[in-house]
Amino acid sequence: MSRPGKIVCVGRNYREHAKELGNEVPTAPLLFLKPPSAVIAPGVPIVIPKASQRVDHEAEIGVVIGAPLRRATPAQCAAGIRGIVALNDVTARDLQKSDGQWTRGKGFDTFCPIGPEWTGVPPLDAITVVARVNGEEKQRASSAEMVFPILDLLSYISQIMTLEPGDVVATGTPSGISALKPGDVVEIELVGYSKVSNPVEAEA
Ligand code: ZN
Repeated sequence: MSRPGKIVCVGRNYREHAKELGNEVPTAPLLFLKPPSAVIAPGVPIVIPKASQRVDHEAEIGVVIGAPLRRATPAQCAAGIRGIVALNDVTARDLQKSDGQWTRGKGFDTFCPIGPEWTGVPPLDAITVVARVNGEEKQRASSAEMVFPILDLLSYISQIMTLEPGDVVATGTPSGISALKPGDVVEIELVGYSKVSNPVEAEA
């Protein structure tokens, strides 16, 4: 897909994932941004930067916006969706923790693999998201398990910033994150919709 204008991400949107990192489930969606420069296509290597000792995969459902959404209701947001993509919210976990702010830990080049867009609006509470590393399953969950459902997330974000055509909303990762190392191949799949697979290499 072409590069999104912005990538709005949601943290801790699955109970079990919040728990595995020792965090409380937030009382409102926890938002952050990933830079569009982090986006890579399937097959392009994820580069582990020298600055980090711990880079994790995060399997996520990416929602692609098709029509401008500003102060939209959840029902209006349903009409503003163009499609969905498999998205890997690659995270330098150590830098995320040490900085407090998430921009560096989430923002390195190559830290946002995005799969081919499936066009349309699937049943938003029944999308299965899976992560595999070297063929071994690490994450599997249904969007039904989200703390804040997809339309509520879009509506909430649209109260803050206009969602524009081509923008992507990354809706949070379920439990099962794990560290990546050079030589790994990590695959994120939205079963029946989109898949993105990338090799992992160390910074030269
Ligand atoms: Zn994430």
